[in-house]
Amino acid sequence: MNLSGGGWTVADSSRLYGLDSWGEPYFSVAAHGHLMVHPRGDHGGSLDLMALVKGLQSRDLSLPLLIRFDDILEDRLERLHAAFERAIAQYNYAGRYQGVFPLKCNQQRHVVEQMVRLGQRWDFGLEVGSKAELLIALALLDHPDALLICNGYKDSRYIETAILARQLGRRPVVVIEQPDEVSRIIAASHGLGAAPLIGMRARLGSSGMGRWAGSSGERAKFGLSAAQLLSTTAALRDAGLLGDLRLLHFHIGSQISNIAVLKDALQEAGQIYVQLARLGAPLGYLDVGGGLGVDYDGSRSAGPASTNYSLQNYANDVVATVRECCEPHGLSLPTLVSESGRAIASHFSVLVFDVLGTDSVADSVPATAAAESLIVRNLRDTLAGIDAGNLQEAWNDAIKFKQDALSAFRLGYLSLEERAKAEQLHWACCSAIAARLNHADLSDDWRNLPLALASTYYANLSVFRSAPDSWAIHQLFPLMPIHRLDEQPTRLGTIADLTCDSDGKLSRFIDQGGEKPLLELHQQREGEPYLLALFLGGAYQEVMGNLHNLFGSTNAVHIRIGTAGTYRVEHVVRGDTTAAVLRAMDHDPGELLEKLRRASEGAIARGDLSLPAARRLMAHLEHSMRQVTYLQQEAVRQAESQGLEPTVAA
Ligand SMILES: *Cc1c(COP(=O)(O)O)cnc(C)c1O
Repeated sequence: MNLSGGGWTVADSSRLYGLDSWGEPYFSVAAHGHLMVHPRGDHGGSLDLMALVKGLQSRDLSLPLLIRFDDILEDRLERLHAAFERAIAQYNYAGRYQGVFPLKCNQQRHVVEQMVRLGQRWDFGLEVGSKAELLIALALLDHPDALLICNGYKDSRYIETAILARQLGRRPVVVIEQPDEVSRIIAASHGLGAAPLIGMRARLGSSGMGRWAGSSGERAKFGLSAAQLLSTTAALRDAGLLGDLRLLHFHIGSQISNIAVLKDALQEAGQIYVQLARLGAPLGYLDVGGGLGVDYDGSRSAGPASTNYSLQNYANDVVATVRECCEPHGLSLPTLVSESGRAIASHFSVLVFDVLGTDSVADSVPATAAAESLIVRNLRDTLAGIDAGNLQEAWNDAIKFKQDALSAFRLGYLSLEERAKAEQLHWACCSAIAARLNHADLSDDWRNLPLALASTYYANLSVFRSAPDSWAIHQLFPLMPIHRLDEQPTRLGTIADLTCDSDGKLSRFIDQGGEKPLLELHQQREGEPYLLALFLGGAYQEVMGNLHNLFGSTNAVHIRIGTAGTYRVEHVVRGDTTAAVLRAMDHDPGELLEKLRRASEGAIARGDLSLPAARRLMAHLEHSMRQVTYLQQEAVRQAESQGLEPTVAA
């Protein structure tokens, strides 16, 4: 059913929310206005996201809900490897590609387990940056040919663990990132009588661009300068460990938007590789780090939320440049390693959440009363007289009369009722003016009008928990309704989250390569859930999320698609309960409950609290302890308990 009557189609929604660009090939809109997920990409099969959410709700999994499509993860891995295989064939590259997944993107158990299992057929490995990550990787990565790249700061225990793990049959490569690490590696190797595979991270002169530019360049936090590369190589030679120097690594920062930056870095690293080989290092692996970007806004541009290259362009450049550097020197071509995190892990998780309510300016016209103040009558006249020819004059009047109303109220000449009417009429004027504005040539006066008139949609989520990068580094994520896409959205709004923090909001949205401050949304219908989803948040968001206001992790599920629209729920990961987040702050939930029980006994004894009321209070408190930290909405709860599809497209 098309409620707008204006011929709005699902194709219009698809265009409006940019689905054709960032969502391809995993997301689309079906004719009945629901968002469809194609977890296997071009290999066929789809799931109705709204129906899937309904199915999960009937398993007692409440919103907000993080849905991980493991098929998408597999498809991303396949695409990455296929791109490198094609490039290797096209450039006759006499070597192979062997990637690793950087754990810092997402260390969740089921994600890592799945990554290791799916990656086996390509000898896909893991990259770690801390001892805790090393522990995960050592335990889970049991494939003998998969690489385990050890980055980050390393103390002796970290290094010794890596050496011993090599004897366990793992393939850890200890990458020297700081000049002082080499002495610890030498000491540990002599102490244990065994060496690790050794890598060196080069600090490139070619620096990245944008947010993560600081990851490279001459003053970068990590990596060895040209002089340090030479002194480290010499130290390894003197210690008899040069034969174990097997890998050259660089990383110029995450989300490389402009491929030209990567090309410079590849050329520089390729030449370093050649020079180190000349000095007698056996090498054999060239690790180009992370940085393979994600096109969040779908614009295919060099803007920060996009990339001006495809996965295939990236693979081609890596393969071709390394070959160009090595071949003139007669060097055998290295195995190419990349540490692509964002590009693999962003797409597979979708965060679905419900809108709790909306707040809009009160712009309905109040009924006329017998004796109204002059200010209110003036505003009524202004509203009645608005036409395309006098917008500026009407705007000036509407503002002046509203200010008059406030002054009169302050001085005691206007009742609260009259002031309320004046404000409503002022907003009614603004809406009437906004409706007549020509958006092509908005003057400064008008530009903020749509913002002032916008609705706030209160969402059942915490930005700090589920999309921290949107707050911390102004990262843009695609966001849209997952149903009613056959209806024209008639509102403009921003999203406010549950936290008591004015930063807890989503107010920047993707817009064909740019961004916009307001998102087109539907008017919420009474008693009916309105569900939105945030996309491309599978990398970094979960682990960077925090407990601001004690909102904990959301419920999460792993989904695999079956045949003919069926699916399997592979894993359910329950969100943090209230008790869990209290414990994280070192409170003892049992003790807190006991204090409250004693307080209620006191109130009963004083006659302030009845026994049934006390029982009810304790029941609520105990129930909350066991529940996730988010809100349970009546409309959503009813839809869950009746097992009904919350919104049915007619
Ligand atoms: C963070 C990081 C990565 C991952 O970067 P992406 O942009 O997510 O691919 C890879 N390597 C190193 C050394 C990193 O620090």
